[in-house]
Amino acid sequence: MCGIIGFVGNEPAAPIVLRGLYKLEYRGYDSAGMASIKDGKLHLKKDAGKIEEVNQKHKLEQLPGNIAIGHTRWATHGGVSQKNAHPHLDCANQIAVVHNGIIENYKELRQILKDNGHIFTSETDTEVIPHLIEECLKESSTLEKAVYKAIQRLKGSYAFVAISAQEPQKMVAARKDNSLVIGIGDNGSFATSDILSYSDRRARVAFPEDDEIAILRSEGVTFLDARGREIQKEMSTLNLEGQASDKGSYKYFMLKEIVEEPQAIRKAIMQDKGQFTQLAMDILRARQVIITACGTSRYAALVGRYLFSKIPKKFCDVVMASEFEYFSRDLLIKIPWLLLFPKVVRLPMSLRE
Ligand code: GLU
Repeated sequence: MCGIIGFVGNEPAAPIVLRGLYKLEYRGYDSAGMASIKDGKLHLKKDAGKIEEVNQKHKLEQLPGNIAIGHTRWATHGGVSQKNAHPHLDCANQIAVVHNGIIENYKELRQILKDNGHIFTSETDTEVIPHLIEECLKESSTLEKAVYKAIQRLKGSYAFVAISAQEPQKMVAARKDNSLVIGIGDNGSFATSDILSYSDRRARVAFPEDDEIAILRSEGVTFLDARGREIQKEMSTLNLEGQASDKGSYKYFMLKEIVEEPQAIRKAIMQDKGQFTQLAMDILRARQVIITACGTSRYAALVGRYLFSKIPKKFCDVVMASEFEYFSRDLLIKIPWLLLFPKVVRLPMSLRE
């Protein structure tokens, strides 16, 4: 899991993106990076290390321009190194992309793109995205059209944001099976993995569906549906009172989460009673329960499996969310009692991924 954030607006973007990256650090912290555009030129800084270390070394907040994208990485493909850190670029250093997720068909795409003359500089799955956009731009008049074409060829899960030095007034964001929040604040528009990374609590936000695309400009956001047609999406203000994604006074997120357990459980059980009853009935009827989770929620699930065997007397298995896809589809389709726990019950932020 990684954290992505982008901002385009009427003020310098890098400090906003950097603040967001610190808040997204709980999602990954092996590398960090940022790209911005100023006067038609793409600027890039990235390295292995925690955000603080990368910032000390590269002064991320000094990247120029009112448009920037940032990333905090937790590597899945390719080691932890400067070249594998995001953002990733196309051959001409005009397009930059930050990505959260896994591109399952990256080897195949990489080969096709290499055969077409593209030069890769990292070992990541992510790098196929800017090259694919570059390729699609040959037949598209705008970045969003190229992104639309590119995502038709991607298999796997993603939330990504792309910028292009050729179209410096906009960012294009897309998602499939990964979290992405699009918002409009007082001074611009933003895309992020987690709303708590954006400090303007009055911002209006929308959550794009799979395969939808958001085009963000300083003056507002437009959305395209999965067929590339412009759609209206309602933007609403969230009540984020009392929500925090930083470590507070704790040294580690894990310590904070342990101490916050009573509060987290209280919040979880104060949700929709009907939904809980339905879930309890489904569990009682089920032959087996599978919990899929990752990170700290997986640890919680490993404890939960004993409770499932003790209380409803159900055999319960825990599957790492990133590996769930690799289980036999036939098996998953034939199992009516499959339960994706974190998807059904909205766990509080600290207990989720
Ligand atoms: N697959 C990408 C990488 O390894 C993104 C990782 C993630 O989202 O966890 O760089």
